[in-house]
Amino acid sequence: MSNQQSDRFDPLVATSPKSLSHCHSYWSDTVELCTARAPLRARLQTDVAIIGGGYTGLLTAYYLAKYHHVDVCVLEANRIGFGASARNAGFVLRGSGRLGYSQMVQRWDLGIAKGIHHEFTQAVERVERLIADHKIECEPQVKGYLKIAHNRKAFKQLSDTANFIDKHLGESTQLISEAQLKAEYLNHHQAVGALRVEQGFGVNPLKLLQGYKRIVEKLSVPLYEHTCVESWVEEEGTHRLITSNGELRAKKVVSLGNGYTPKHFHPTVDNRFLPILSNIIVTEPLTADELAILGIHTREVVMDTRILKYYYRLLPDNRLLFGGRGAIFGRNSQNPVYQERLKFALTQCFPALKFKKLDYNWTGWIAASFDDIPHVFETNGVGYSLGYCGAGVSFSAQAAYRLSEQIVGLPVPSLPLYHQAAPRFPCARLRRLGQWGYYQYGWVKDRYF
Ligand SMILES: Cc1cc2nc3c(=O)[nH]c(=O)nc-3n(C[C@H](O)[C@H](O)[C@H](O)COP(=O)(O)OP(=O)(O)OC[C@H]3O[C@@H](n4cnc5c(N)ncnc54)[C@H](O)[C@@H]3O)c2cc1C
Repeated sequence: MSNQQSDRFDPLVATSPKSLSHCHSYWSDTVELCTARAPLRARLQTDVAIIGGGYTGLLTAYYLAKYHHVDVCVLEANRIGFGASARNAGFVLRGSGRLGYSQMVQRWDLGIAKGIHHEFTQAVERVERLIADHKIECEPQVKGYLKIAHNRKAFKQLSDTANFIDKHLGESTQLISEAQLKAEYLNHHQAVGALRVEQGFGVNPLKLLQGYKRIVEKLSVPLYEHTCVESWVEEEGTHRLITSNGELRAKKVVSLGNGYTPKHFHPTVDNRFLPILSNIIVTEPLTADELAILGIHTREVVMDTRILKYYYRLLPDNRLLFGGRGAIFGRNSQNPVYQERLKFALTQCFPALKFKKLDYNWTGWIAASFDDIPHVFETNGVGYSLGYCGAGVSFSAQAAYRLSEQIVGLPVPSLPLYHQAAPRFPCARLRRLGQWGYYQYGWVKDRYF
């Protein structure tokens, strides 16, 4: 199946994610999609309407219904599993956004950095608990996250990060030398060492998503698929969400389309994020001999220190998943040059894979915020959560938990994540130009500095 249609969706161009074919990926070949729920074909009312059926939308519905007994309803434009939640690499990591902890101290102070670290830690624990409590069979792999230094300067920075975490966040990390990394973890040809943290593991993201869908269904939360919110009108304190075949009236609305929120959707979210294409390739399964030659001894999740990062992991059936940036525009997402670039990067890390066949290639949109942190924000009955910067598998769970608290009026930690609206991009029309410039800068910096 080709991803022509699904991958060409571009949130800065398209006005709706409805009616597009589903993304064919390694994940979609590992599990059948659950039967789609019927679209909304009536005029209904609810207390809280949730737009978007990814991790954040489903879990917000779960927390609202289960812990706050709120009447809630989920509207998904496509199938559950159209957005990033079905296309990601399945890294459950502590952290979201692009800011390091020392940068957080510089921007705010140590107390805020500690508070954010606490939320990120809870996010991973929350996902682990959801998996265990609801027996979600999503193939969690061994624990451990390796951040690979791509040059000496990056290794020094990793060492500073390790010291910062040990000293201020009270956790032990492991700084791994190049020799130890190659002998015990990966014989990676571009690595000069790594920082290892225990928290982090890989899952099958689509199975996780379907697990979330099931727990929402068990609570009998109304969930409508193929139900795109086409327009959103506010009338005398009520929100009217007009869909293709019906209408939902709600006291409160949360917009959880994240990187799949289409163009000109609603002033609450418009221009508050930059959708960025990430591209994933998956090799055919590696044999035991190939794994020995490559010196791959770990199934921990791995990411490097580049500005234009690569991320990878060995899947349960011994395929190597390898991801990195994709095209800038959705219309170019299927251009083979991006797959070839990734394959080239893969063989720079593991030269023995030069002739290894790729079985899968797909792309998806991540949402970056202007200030590099996620924002989970609600005011006057309208909320959103966006800007996980490519690290939402875990943080979406914490975001959903906090958003549900905000909606019912409970206090949430006093952190910029929850108390500051996501800033709008200045000169939003030029976001893509800025992205192009950033890619050029990243390319030069990653190679020469
Ligand atoms: C290639 C790739 C790799 C990634 N790898 C990782 C990783 O390894 N680890 C990690 O932590 N994160 C990763 N991410 C990011 C992560 O997948 C996302 O942060 C997360 O899935 C966001 O979930 P969400 O529910 O907020 O949004 P989504 O899963 O994108 O769901 C949004 C939903 O809203 C729906 N929608 C939009 N507009 C409307 C409308 N008008 N009406 C109704 N419904 C609407 C869409 O159809 C979509 O289904 C990756 C992302 C990509 C694309």
